[in-house]
Amino acid sequence: MSKDKAEAVSYFAQKPLPWQESQWKSLLRRMRSDALPHALLLKGALGVGKGAFSQALMSRVLCHTPSGGYACGHCKSCDLLQAGTHPDVLVIEPESSGKPIKIDQIRRINEFARKTAQQGGRRVIIIDPAEAMNVNAANALLKSLEEPGDNTLFLLVSARAGDMLATIRSRCQLVMFPVPDLSLAKQWLGDHIADAQTIDHLLSLSCGSPVLARNMFDQNVLELRGHLINVMPELFRGNLTPVELAKEQHTGDLISLLGWLGSWLDDAVKLRLTADESLVRNRDVNRMIGYLAKKADAPTLVKVRDRIMLQRQQLQEGANLNSQMLLEGVFSDYLELAL
Ligand SMILES: [Zn+2]
Repeated sequence: MSKDKAEAVSYFAQKPLPWQESQWKSLLRRMRSDALPHALLLKGALGVGKGAFSQALMSRVLCHTPSGGYACGHCKSCDLLQAGTHPDVLVIEPESSGKPIKIDQIRRINEFARKTAQQGGRRVIIIDPAEAMNVNAANALLKSLEEPGDNTLFLLVSARAGDMLATIRSRCQLVMFPVPDLSLAKQWLGDHIADAQTIDHLLSLSCGSPVLARNMFDQNVLELRGHLINVMPELFRGNLTPVELAKEQHTGDLISLLGWLGSWLDDAVKLRLTADESLVRNRDVNRMIGYLAKKADAPTLVKVRDRIMLQRQQLQEGANLNSQMLLEGVFSDYLELAL
């Protein structure tokens, strides 16, 4: 397997997730009638399970002896995928989470696509997340999509397909992944998380995306977020300065942190404009949100929220910002809202 990171990573998945049956069956039908397009764009909200689907589809496409519609899990190809050493697979991801995919990574596709598939079947290229490609990388990919070579399947995975070049989107067949039915999401999470209230809380924070909810659970997000909620009043009371709070928080996951701080202001704006508490999404933060909505006017709340979300977006696009200074600014802004 060609992979940007040195360590072998297994990309084998036998089955799609329980809420992906209709997409799976439809693609399987096309595969059986030899009508699978050479490029698919798997599109849906962050954490809805598109990556898992791409791996299951790749496993099925490459499997030598599929059974019951799924990859068998024990043929040579399945073994190679599980070991992370399949020669006919190229997975392109950012070098680290949130960073862009660069042109050098995309250039490897040309080299890869020139070779004949060593296991006698197709070659599969996964680009995840596809919107992480910078402009040069996207332009380089266009050529490969136009002349894909024999038996090559491109799987582009994207939560923000609108940010991709239209010329790339138009060369892919779109497969949509909506947020699943709440009961299916709860049932699936129930296999990993015992407490129903925790599941409800995670699903509300992840806007119903089960895989994102599960990742949040694995990364202790509820505790980290809970700690921030507890410590923010100390900022308003003057027991902690923005510099001290930034020092405490700057080593965490900055993109999530800014997401929470932005989302709380989003709620404060709604509350300020409508006085309708039922519109507040972050119910567990309603005291602080109510306090800010009382203290600051809507245009100021919007201005600070937009600044936070812009910085978050810049980080996602790979900007190298000083986290301590950035957070000092954000917490100073928060403090000013409450003056
Ligand atoms: Zn197999």
